[in-house]
Amino acid sequence: MLYDVSLTCPFCFESFWIEVDPSGGPSQNWIYDCEVCCRPIEVQATWDEDAENYVVEGGRS
Ligand SMILES: [Zn+2]
Repeated sequence: MLYDVSLTCPFCFESFWIEVDPSGGPSQNWIYDCEVCCRPIEVQATWDEDAENYVVEGGRS
């Protein structure tokens, strides 16, 4: 099962939805090209046990 999470681009500050695969582990990071400005976002996804959801942060790679 994939989780949809909201990510804000650190370059253009647009928000959009990305998918996180829990089978990849409780803490993941990867590069995702922004759907709006196409610049590479360094995505950091961390499993939040209390919220039972992923918390994602986008950084400039
Ligand atoms: Zn962007």
